[in-house]
Amino acid sequence: MHDVAVVGGGPAGLLTARRCAEAGLDVTVLEEHEHIGEPVHCTGIISLETATLTKISEDVVLNRLRRACLIAPGGGSCHVPWTGSGTEELLAVDRAQFDRSLAEQAQRAGATVRTGARVDEIASDADGVTLLSGARAIHARACVLACGVSYRLHRQLGLGLPAHVLHTAQVEVESEPADAVEIHFGREIAPDGFLWAVPVRRGEGAALKLGALSRGDAGAGLARFLARPEMRARLRGEPGRPVRRLLPLQPAPQTVADRLLLVGDAGGFTKPTTGGGIFYSLLTASLAADTLIEGFQAGRLDEGFLKRYEDRWETQLGPELRMSGWLRQFLVRCRDREIDELVRALGSDSVQDVIRRTARFNRHRDLIVALLREPGIASLLLKSLFR
Ligand SMILES: Cc1cc2nc3c(=O)[nH]c(=O)nc-3n(C[C@H](O)[C@H](O)[C@H](O)COP(=O)(O)OP(=O)(O)OC[C@H]3O[C@@H](n4cnc5c(N)ncnc54)[C@H](O)[C@@H]3O)c2cc1C
Repeated sequence: MHDVAVVGGGPAGLLTARRCAEAGLDVTVLEEHEHIGEPVHCTGIISLETATLTKISEDVVLNRLRRACLIAPGGGSCHVPWTGSGTEELLAVDRAQFDRSLAEQAQRAGATVRTGARVDEIASDADGVTLLSGARAIHARACVLACGVSYRLHRQLGLGLPAHVLHTAQVEVESEPADAVEIHFGREIAPDGFLWAVPVRRGEGAALKLGALSRGDAGAGLARFLARPEMRARLRGEPGRPVRRLLPLQPAPQTVADRLLLVGDAGGFTKPTTGGGIFYSLLTASLAADTLIEGFQAGRLDEGFLKRYEDRWETQLGPELRMSGWLRQFLVRCRDREIDELVRALGSDSVQDVIRRTARFNRHRDLIVALLREPGIASLLLKSLFR
C-alpha cells in the first residue's frame, strides 16, 4: 500500500510526487509513455517565477525571449514592451528535458516513477484507492490525477470536465534566426485563438516553434499559416506532422473527492488568455502536496478535509482565472477589423506605458483592469459586448 499514487508524469504529477516524498510519504508515479517528457506537445515558455517552485537548470533553456510582437489580421502590428527582468525574465525551455529534470528531482526525494504504466481504471473505497494498470493493481491511500487533458478517468470517476477546451497543433521547424516571439490573430486561421512563432536554438541552429490554438481544426489553420509565402521564406526545413492536443481554459467543476485531488491540466488550470499552464500546473501541484501532507498528518483524506486544496487554489488563482476568462469572452466576440483596431490601440504610447507598468507573465488581472481604464480599449470591448 503506497501513501500516494500519482497518475501522470508531467510537471504537475512530478512536482506533487517530489513534494510529498520530501515530506516522507511513500509515492509512486505512473506514466503511460515509455519516456518522461515525450512526445512534446508544448512550446515551453515560462517566466523565471517558475524557479520559485522548481529548479530550472541552464541545460533546459532553449532561448531567452526578449521581444514579442502582436500581428493583427490586417497586417498591422505592435511591439509588447516587456521589461523581462528578475522573475519576469522569459525562457523557452525544452519540455522533454524540463520534465526529465522534474522526474530526477522526484526520484531523488524518494518517489518511484514507473513509465510505460498506463492507468486504465481507478476505484476508491473506505480503505484506499486501487489503480488498475494492465494486469497490475496498485493500492494507495490517496490518488492525484495529473493526467493532463486525458479526461477518460474523470468520466469513469463521475467527475465533471473543464467546460471550455480548445484545439492546438504545433510543429518545430528549422528556420532563419529570429529574435521576437510573434502572436498572429485572424478568424480565418485561428478562430477564438491565435497562432505563434517562437524562436529557439538547437546547438548552433535556429528553429521556430509554430503553433495554433483555435476552435475547430487547429491543424488546418496552422497549415494555412505555414503556407503563407512570407512564412515559407523563413523556414529552412519542411514542417513535419504537427502534434495535436486539446487545451483546457477553465478549471474542472470539482477538483477534490474522497482520497483524490486533480492538479494541472487534469484540473483545467491554465491561463484563459493564453493557455499557458506550466506555472499553474506546478503551483496547483505544490498546493495539492501541502494539503495531502496535512491530510496524512491529521489522518484525514476525506473530501471535506481535502477541500482545503480548493480554498488554496481559489485564493491564489480564482480572481485571476475569472478576470482572464471574462476578457477571453470579449475577445472571441471581436471581428477581425476590431482586432486590427485593438492592436493599433495597444501600440499607442499611453497603453504601452500601462503594459510596461502592470504586465506580469503569470498574472494578467492587473493588466486587464488597467487596460479597461483606457478609453480606446474599453470602447472596443463594449462594442463586442452589445453586438
Ligand atoms: C501546443 C501547446 C503549447 C503550449 N505551450 C505552453 C507554453 O509555452 N507555456 C506554458 O506555460 N504552457 C504551455 N502549454 C500548456 C502546458 O503544456 C500544460 O499546461 C502542461 O503540460 C500541464 O502539465 P500537466 O502535468 O498537468 O500535464 P501534462 O504535461 O499533459 O502531463 C500529463 C501526463 O499524464 C500522462 N497520462 C495521461 N493519462 C494517463 C494515464 N491514464 N495513465 C498514466 N499516465 C497518463 C501523459 O502521458 C502525460 O505525460 C501548451 C500546451 C499546448 C497544447
